[in-house]
Amino acid sequence: MKKVAFITGGSRGIGYGIAEHLARAGFDLAINGVRPEEAAREALDSLRTVGAEVLYCQGDVASTETRRTMLDNIRSHFGRLNVLVNNAGVAPKERRDILEATEESFQYVLTTNLQGAYFLTQAAANWMIEQKSEQSDFTGCIVNVSSISATVASVNRGEYCVAKAGLSMTTQLFAARLGEFDIPVYEVRPGIIRTDMTAGVTSKYDKLIDDGLCVQKRWGYPDDVGRAVAALARGDFPYSTGQVILIDGGLTLPRL
Ligand code: NAP
Repeated sequence: MKKVAFITGGSRGIGYGIAEHLARAGFDLAINGVRPEEAAREALDSLRTVGAEVLYCQGDVASTETRRTMLDNIRSHFGRLNVLVNNAGVAPKERRDILEATEESFQYVLTTNLQGAYFLTQAAANWMIEQKSEQSDFTGCIVNVSSISATVASVNRGEYCVAKAGLSMTTQLFAARLGEFDIPVYEVRPGIIRTDMTAGVTSKYDKLIDDGLCVQKRWGYPDDVGRAVAALARGDFPYSTGQVILIDGGLTLPRL
């Protein structure tokens, strides 16, 4: 029986890169997004051509009710869940200096990027524990897609940095709690990745990369993140729970 991975925000950008590599690694997929299924159809069909059975779970990860419904759907469709990838995320609608940014924006970014992932992890972890108790050879794993913003301060999107720093602690907390069940929890921390999220700041990052911001002088791609998550989900890092995998081309490497 194939293992099942649930990827939030999995029909485009980094999430799609992850889904593609997990499909290639032999997983069936549950893919979440806020867009209606019709809008994601091309991406879902491409994943099917790689060989995965794909279930689309539409809805907002920030909603308690939606998270419950999505897991119920996965349970009734596949009957199992081996991997959760918390990838869905938003940037602030408007980048504003932290001396002026609004509480409304803070709430929007925190509920989506942190609260949603935290409580989806809680619910998925409980289901994984249940599966483990019924099936001794069950393997589970959770991967959180954070950002270099977990440690790099950008004063024009403080709410994003705070959410990603919180997601980083979420990884450590659940790694510590799920150790006794042998369910590893990892954090994947991308740098500057070419997706819709960074489309509005392309020329700014082109110049920064050209000027040596990253050790490896190029943008990162969803494929770079997908390869790393597939290695984690396959079980290639079995004794490394709680670890952070940086996928930033050396952006955060201290240099003088
Ligand atoms: P993206 O291209 O904007 O895609 C975001 C994905 O998240 C979409 O699939 C979107 O769904 C989904 N999503 C957004 N809000 C959601 C919600 N409330 N509920 C469910 N799904 C939601 O972004 P990306 O660049 O691939 O980013 C993916 C993750 O990587 C994010 O957590 C981001 O913070 C992180 N990251 C990105 C970069 C970068 O440079 N791009 C760097 C570091 C970390 P729809 O497709 O249905 O709209």
